[in-house]
Amino acid sequence: MSYDPSNVFARILRREIPAQVLHEDEHCLAFRDAAPQAPVHFLVIPKRAIRTLADAAGADAALLGHLMLTAAAVARQQGLADGAFRVVVNNGGGAGQTVFHLHLHVLAGRPLAWPPG
Ligand code: AMP
Repeated sequence: MSYDPSNVFARILRREIPAQVLHEDEHCLAFRDAAPQAPVHFLVIPKRAIRTLADAAGADAALLGHLMLTAAAVARQQGLADGAFRVVVNNGGGAGQTVFHLHLHVLAGRPLAWPPG
C-alpha cells in the first residue's frame, strides 16, 4: 500500500494541526500523544514519509537508529524517577496501528505489565 499524505502525522509535520512538540530536528519530531496511555506518552516520528516499520528499507537504518536515540533522550528529559520507559511500534492494523506514518510510542510513569495486550 502506498503512503497517504493526508494522515494525521503528516498533517502535524506540515503544521496543519497542532501538537505538543517535545523535540524537533532535521530528521524527526517528538510530541505528546493526544490520548495518553501512561503519565508520560509521546510519539517519535520521522520527517521522511514511511508508512510502517515494515516499509523501512536498508537506506533508513541510520534514521531508525536516530528515532531510537531520540526516544531515549526525550524520555530522559521527562525526568522519570526510575528511568524506566517502554518503546512500542505497532506495525499494521492487526497490531494496533491506526496512523499510517511510522511512529515510536514512548510510555512511562506507571508500572508497565508484560506481555502487553
Ligand atoms: P497507533 O495506534 O500505534 O497507530 O498510534 C497512533 C497514536 O496516535 C495513538 O496513540 C493516538 O492517540 C495518537 N494520535 C492520534 N491523533 C493524534 C494527534 N492529533 N496528536 C497526537 N497524537 C495523536
